[in-house]
Amino acid sequence: MQSIPLADTHGRVATDLRVSLTDKCNLRCTYCMPAEGLDWMPLADQLTDDEVVRLVGLAADRLGVREVRFTGGEPLVRRGLVDIVGRVKAGHPDLELSVTTNGLGLVRTAGALAAAGLDRVNVSLDTVRPDTFATLTRRDRLDDVVAGLAAAADVGLGPVKVNAVLMRGVNDDQAAELLGWCLERGYELRFIEQMPLDAQHGWSRDGMVTAEEILGQLEAAYVLTAAEEPRGSAPAELFTVDGGPGTVGVIASVTRPFCGDCDRVRLTADGQVRTCLFARTESDLRGALRGGADDAELAERWRTAMWGKLPGHGIDDPSFLQPSRPMSAIGG
Ligand code: SAM
Repeated sequence: MQSIPLADTHGRVATDLRVSLTDKCNLRCTYCMPAEGLDWMPLADQLTDDEVVRLVGLAADRLGVREVRFTGGEPLVRRGLVDIVGRVKAGHPDLELSVTTNGLGLVRTAGALAAAGLDRVNVSLDTVRPDTFATLTRRDRLDDVVAGLAAAADVGLGPVKVNAVLMRGVNDDQAAELLGWCLERGYELRFIEQMPLDAQHGWSRDGMVTAEEILGQLEAAYVLTAAEEPRGSAPAELFTVDGGPGTVGVIASVTRPFCGDCDRVRLTADGQVRTCLFARTESDLRGALRGGADDAELAERWRTAMWGKLPGHGIDDPSFLQPSRPMSAIGG
């Protein structure tokens, strides 16, 4: 079978596929979703487990995709997750499979996910203080996330990575504390700059906590040294902490964009290809798939979509408009 990569007109090739499995979530992080939730995607629009497995498989076989990250919404609320992971891994043992999750339910599913062939997890955790956690996520579930992280590490879903967003006036003074907590447990922490992707359109450049500010806080408590290995297409700038082996990363999507090295492509839970988190257009694969298209045609449609990927996300451009889908419906 011929594999022709997902190239664009700016010389980039996408090999890292993010697949959203649902737009639903069981937390309500203030930077992501309103307290009342959102109008969820109709189930009939959502790709079935079989459709997900088929599209991921053809991305690996025909488009050169080498890594797949399942996300959402919250991927652990998708009933078929373990089955999807198992089927994808069985068909493509070389694909690196990971899940980005808020960690709720990992205690229950980590073992099954590891047995199904999942390689790693990224768990989102913005604070280790119960009151701040409840304020940020609008749910009192810190203990469940902490237990979920431990369960993931216990079954070998490592290196376990932790993603954190700092919000002004809420947890913007907790960077060093969170790093200390992660270092003690061997988790790799990455701070993500808050991006204009919330359903409520509450983001403002003046309000966001920048990478520079985060690094300043960390450097007041630790000695950070820029990591020696080349960053490549990794979104995080990596630093060793106090001489290592612990590390910390900062994903400065807003203030230090890395679009020129981007190797990512996204598939939404309803079967739309997105070339960027901030894309304002999508390409429908679900319609073609349900209309009877064969794998070769689906792959060609996917390549065509990718060819049109813009050079950058354009947040700094005066004409920037936030995408109409929020992060939870795109797949973070
Ligand atoms: N529910 C899963 C989770 O919590 O990891 C996966 C989906 S979530 C949208 C993926 C990541 O996006 C999380 O680490 C979350 O903190 C981050 N995120 C959500 N909204 C964001 C925003 N506006 N700016 C930056 N990161 C955001």
